[in-house]
Amino acid sequence: MRGAVMYAPGDVRVETLDDPRIEQPTDAIIRLSAACVCGSDLWPYRGIEKLQGPTRMGHEYVGIVEEVGSAVTSIRKGQFVVGSFWASDNTCDICRAGYQSACVHRVLMGTIGSQAEYLRVPLADGTLVATPELPPADLIPSYLAASDVLGTGWFAAVAAEAGPGKTVAVVGDGAVGLLAVLAAKQLGAERIIAMSRHEPRQKLATEFGATDIVTERGDEGIARIKDMTGGLGAHSVVEAVGTQESMMQAVHSTRSGGHVGFVGVTHDVSLPGMDMFNALVHLHGGPAPVRRFLPDLMRLIGDRTIDPGKVFDLTLPLDQAAEGYRAMDERRAIKTLLQV
Ligand SMILES: [Zn+2]
Repeated sequence: MRGAVMYAPGDVRVETLDDPRIEQPTDAIIRLSAACVCGSDLWPYRGIEKLQGPTRMGHEYVGIVEEVGSAVTSIRKGQFVVGSFWASDNTCDICRAGYQSACVHRVLMGTIGSQAEYLRVPLADGTLVATPELPPADLIPSYLAASDVLGTGWFAAVAAEAGPGKTVAVVGDGAVGLLAVLAAKQLGAERIIAMSRHEPRQKLATEFGATDIVTERGDEGIARIKDMTGGLGAHSVVEAVGTQESMMQAVHSTRSGGHVGFVGVTHDVSLPGMDMFNALVHLHGGPAPVRRFLPDLMRLIGDRTIDPGKVFDLTLPLDQAAEGYRAMDERRAIKTLLQV
């Protein structure tokens, strides 16, 4: 099969790789319907995360089940399935509490690599959610978004306690931030402030439900949020970047008693004690338990209530994955879909 391998920062190649096969009786093999590049793939691409040699890439996936292991009971060959970037048994205490991304048996799908034609999915019964029927082709991008960016944005909005009567601010205008806007809207937030200085992203944020756009960032961005909320700050703030600046912008844009949902993979973030002590906010975040939300999200996609697939603004054949990375790195694209 063909699949993407990162050799070094800025060096992604699509090569012929061994086809995956069932390794554990709980595995499934799926044929990808589409693949994509994640904002978090840009950390190693930019050399901020170190690579341990050539690395298979990709952790978002939707596809048709080709084969299942002997212990798989609920997933069948021929089904269209969506899974998350953490494979999980969905039965342990942590999973049952809704934190499948910390499952005691979890497997990080990025270590297997879904920017490819075929993918082995561990713990198939717990990890995969099937649609009732094969979906029409135009819904594939939205189901693919559910695999990570929608599920992550949704978790961020839930962690920030977005809901009726709330003002929600979103720091970060990548796919996750934009879909946190969509989530906040679906969760009934009254006012949704997207922080973005890029016109195409502002437009999409508005389509997804943003009521206000703030272009300032850092201290100026915080001051703008305060101005818009009677000096108090937002009730709910989503952090979807992962830098020191974005994290502190989120904390200081939140009113006392409010909630920060942080899902940007943090890089060299350290929280200053006195700032945190005085902020008097709730912090909840980390790798999103997307599996918790998948059944509901897939239903909303299937009945066309939401259209998260709009975050894909560039579509390329898998063999041109390198250009897909480059376009996202240069912010020419929000998110790249790879046709398999
Ligand atoms: Zn578990």
